[in-house]
Amino acid sequence: MKTQWIGDVLSGSLNQKEVHLKGWIHRSRGSNAIRFVVLRDSTGTLQCVVKRDKVGDASFEEVASALIESSLEIKGTAIPTDREHGYEIQVTEAKVVGPVDPSNPFPITESAMEEADGGETEFLLDNRHLYLRTGRMTTMLKIRSSVFGAIHSFFRDRDFIEYQAPNFVAGAVEGGSTLFEVPYFGRKAYLTQSWQLYAEAAMPALERLYTIAPSFRAEKSRTRRHLTEFWHAEMEIAWADNNDVMDHGEALVRHIARTLLTERPAELESLGRDLEVIRRFADSDYPRIRYDEAVERLKSKGVEIEWGQDLDYSKEKILTADFDVPHFLTHYPKVAKPFYHRQDPDNQDYVLCHDLLAPEGYGEIIGGGERTWSESEILKRIDDEGTPRDPYEFYIDIRRYGGVPHGGFGLGVDRVCAWLAGADHIRETIPFPRDSRRVTP
Ligand code: ATP
Ligand code: MG
Repeated sequence: MKTQWIGDVLSGSLNQKEVHLKGWIHRSRGSNAIRFVVLRDSTGTLQCVVKRDKVGDASFEEVASALIESSLEIKGTAIPTDREHGYEIQVTEAKVVGPVDPSNPFPITESAMEEADGGETEFLLDNRHLYLRTGRMTTMLKIRSSVFGAIHSFFRDRDFIEYQAPNFVAGAVEGGSTLFEVPYFGRKAYLTQSWQLYAEAAMPALERLYTIAPSFRAEKSRTRRHLTEFWHAEMEIAWADNNDVMDHGEALVRHIARTLLTERPAELESLGRDLEVIRRFADSDYPRIRYDEAVERLKSKGVEIEWGQDLDYSKEKILTADFDVPHFLTHYPKVAKPFYHRQDPDNQDYVLCHDLLAPEGYGEIIGGGERTWSESEILKRIDDEGTPRDPYEFYIDIRRYGGVPHGGFGLGVDRVCAWLAGADHIRETIPFPRDSRRVTP
């Protein structure tokens, strides 16, 4: 097992000490007598100075001929330098653990990216399994881990229970057009689009529940913010209205931003993120505006929009260009939303729902609201919509036995990562992105 990391050396805590490091060759150069090997591990990179007269001929030759991404074990002393890393290792012993065959060198190089037939992006997606170990991807994966951790700690600190729903389901949550159909022993099943319907079944048992799980949507058009398999953080809460649910969503997003400032400031900065901007997301209140006001704003900018239309990304983008913090849009027209959104008792043309739009053109990161919770209302909404009751019988039952006001939201974890990391495309944030054209590697 490994007991020391490059990060320990970089922090200064091993100054002048004997160290034993294990990692991969990031770069290597030098002469017949001395090699400067930049070693990489999961915590950083560090220059290791390997001298022939220190390590002996055999070991020196082995290291000198090792190619980029060969794995290496070294022993030596950590010495301060005024060069790039602040420290370097004067190596006393070095051993190649896993070599790279010279006939098949590490494929990701500047020139390979430039020359790739399908362009750099496709080349890196084809080599995703190797791209993961390069700096930008590693940084993204660390930020992603902190975002997941922040979501868990947020809900657990507030006494929410983590709860799992099935991934094979019989009905749609978000509409049939994005359902993935799977053959299921002579019948048809679908991959879940959301945890929500099954979470509502447990709402009378647990009252406050959450999950982080994959959701699946057959998004045919490829955009910068849609995956076909994405990670969905969802919550459901009993005895709560639309405003209560928004309060939780707002507090969660602020908590994620605050966690990144504590755990990943260097990573954010290395991606070009200004920490002051993230601090604003962590500290500000998020304004709440109604759909009607958003439509007015869009019209005043010359956007053609009819009342009742859902706001697609092009419109969200125009709206959020004015924002410097996330905004909620509430009270969408009933015609734009599915049956489980509760009608506003004050005006039946609207539903008690919300989307949270991230600023800087990122758009929707949360969709949520109050649920239609009485039996009579849900039956009417389902029938008016022309949706068959059958697959939803279990869902209607929840209302037949002690219905209560309740609600919840779904947050797109990959979208939040993309926004907070300042990524151009959602696929930058997930190890193996899935879209309509790609399920490999
Ligand atoms: P959009 O209109 O952007 O497709 P949606 O209205 O379909 O989003 P919801 O059904 O409300 O989204 O899902 C809740 C959240 O899940 C969204 O706010 C978003 O953050 C995330 N999400 C939805 N679809 C995807 C997807 N295909 N890829 C990544 N994240 C998604
Ligand atoms: Mg969608």
